[in-house]
Amino acid sequence: MSAEADRFEVIVAGGGLAGGTLALALAQAGLRVAVVEAEPVATRTAAAFDGRASAVARANMQAWRTLGVGDGLIARSQPIRRIVVADGPAPGASVAGGAGAVLSFDGRDLGDPASGSSPGDAPLGDEPLGHEPLGWMVENRFARAALAEALEAAGARVLVPASVRRVEVGPAEAAVVLANGETLSAPLVVGADGRGSRVREQAGIGVRGWPYRQKGVVATVALEHDHQGAAMQLFQPGGPLAVLPLTEQRANLVWTERPEAADALLAGPADAFEAQLARRFGDYLGRPRLLGPRHAYPLALQIAERLSAPRIALVGDAAHVVHPIAGQGLNVGLKDAAALAETIVDARAIGEDWGSEAVLGRYARWRRFDAASLVAVTDLFNRAFSADLPGVRALRGAGLRLVNRWAPARRLFVQEATGSLGELPRLLRGQPLA
Ligand SMILES: Cc1cc2nc3c(=O)[nH]c(=O)nc-3n(C[C@H](O)[C@H](O)[C@H](O)COP(=O)(O)OP(=O)(O)OC[C@H]3O[C@@H](n4cnc5c(N)ncnc54)[C@H](O)[C@@H]3O)c2cc1C
Repeated sequence: MSAEADRFEVIVAGGGLAGGTLALALAQAGLRVAVVEAEPVATRTAAAFDGRASAVARANMQAWRTLGVGDGLIARSQPIRRIVVADGPAPGASVAGGAGAVLSFDGRDLGDPASGSSPGDAPLGDEPLGHEPLGWMVENRFARAALAEALEAAGARVLVPASVRRVEVGPAEAAVVLANGETLSAPLVVGADGRGSRVREQAGIGVRGWPYRQKGVVATVALEHDHQGAAMQLFQPGGPLAVLPLTEQRANLVWTERPEAADALLAGPADAFEAQLARRFGDYLGRPRLLGPRHAYPLALQIAERLSAPRIALVGDAAHVVHPIAGQGLNVGLKDAAALAETIVDARAIGEDWGSEAVLGRYARWRRFDAASLVAVTDLFNRAFSADLPGVRALRGAGLRLVNRWAPARRLFVQEATGSLGELPRLLRGQPLA
C-alpha cells in the first residue's frame, strides 16, 4: 500500500443520493470521510441531467431531516397524499369515473381515528386533510444540490470530478487508486457507485439478475387539472405508467414500455406524446404539456451476491437495482446508507475496527432481507401487471380488489410505502448518530 496515500476513516466511492447521504451521516458524526464522484456538481444538478424525481418515503425524509437537509427539500417538494393503483390500458378515463381505481391508499390507512370511512371507497377528489403525507416527490437534482452543500459544511473531502479505477485491499486498510493516479486509503471503502459499480467488481462480488425487456421513459409535464397530491400507477399492456405529482401542477412520468415502443415515445413529436398521454389521463388530469427533454432508462433487476467483502461494503444501486414500479429503489438505498452509517459509528465508539468482517457482517445481515424481498416483490408485480392475458388480468383485478377491502393488507402496503416496515435505523427514527 502506498505510503503517500491520503488517509481517511471511510472512503465513499460515488456521491449519488445513497453515497452522499452515507458520507453526510458519517461526516456529521465526526469521521474523516472522502467522497469520490465522477460527475461535477453543476452537471448533476442541472434541470436536464436525468429528469428524474423520486418518491421519497416518509421515514427516509425523516432521516434527511435528522441530517439537516430534509426541511429545505420538503419546501421544494410535493407531498404525496394518496397512492392510486388502476388497472387497464386506458385508465385515465376510468379514474375520472372512479370505477378503474382499484386500489387507493392514504394516511387513514395508518390508523388515523379521524376517518370513519374506508379510504379505498373515497373518490379521488376527496382529499384527506390533516394527515402527514405518505412521502414527498423530490426532484433528484434538488436532493443532489442539498447533499453537496451539506457535505461541504460538514467538512467531508469531496473529490470531483474523480473516478475510482482500482481498489487494493490490505490487512488493515484498503487503498483507492483514482483515474488521475492519486491514492487514498481507509479501513473501509464503500461502493455507492451505482449499478455498474467498479468497487463491487474490484471486490470480486458477482451479481445476479436479468434485464427487463422494458425501458422507463421519464418526462415532466404541466397538467391541465390539479393532481391533488395523488401518485398514480396506471397499468397498461407494455408496463406501468407512473404519474407522480410535482409542485406547480406538474407531474413526473415514468412510462414503462417495451423497448421499441419506448424508443418511439422518445423520438416522436411532442404533440403526439402529449396526445397519447391525454388519452390515458382522460378527464381527470386533462391535456398535459411536455416540459423539458424526455429520457429513457433500460430497466433491470440486479442484486449483488454479497453486501460486503473484506474492507468493502456496498450500498444503493451498487448492491441492488429494482424495477421502478414501486418507487422503492432509492428508498432502499437510503436505508442501506442509514444502517451502514449507524453500524460504523457504533463500532467506532467502542473501539472496534469498522472495516472488519465482523462489523460489516452485522450490516449485511441487517440489510440483506429487505433488499432481497424488495427485488422479489417488484419483479412479481412487474410480471403480473405487464401481462395482458385475459386470465392474468382477471386474477390480478380480483387480487387488487381483495387487498383494497382487507384492512391488514392495506396497512402493510402503506407501511411499506412510507418506509416504516422492518428494523429502522436511528436516523429514520429522528435520532442523530452521535
Ligand atoms: C426511471 C426511474 C425512476 C425511479 N424512481 C424512483 C422513485 O420514485 N423512488 C425511488 O426510491 N427510487 C426510484 N428509482 C431508483 C433510484 O433512482 C435509484 O435507486 C437511485 O438513484 C440510486 O442511487 P445511488 O446513489 O445508489 O446510485 P446512483 O444514482 O447511480 O449514483 C452513483 C454515483 O456514483 C458515481 N460513479 C459511478 N462510477 C464511479 C466511479 N468509478 N468513480 C467515482 N464515481 C462513480 C456516479 O457518477 C453517480 O453519481 C428510479 C429509477 C429509475 C430508473
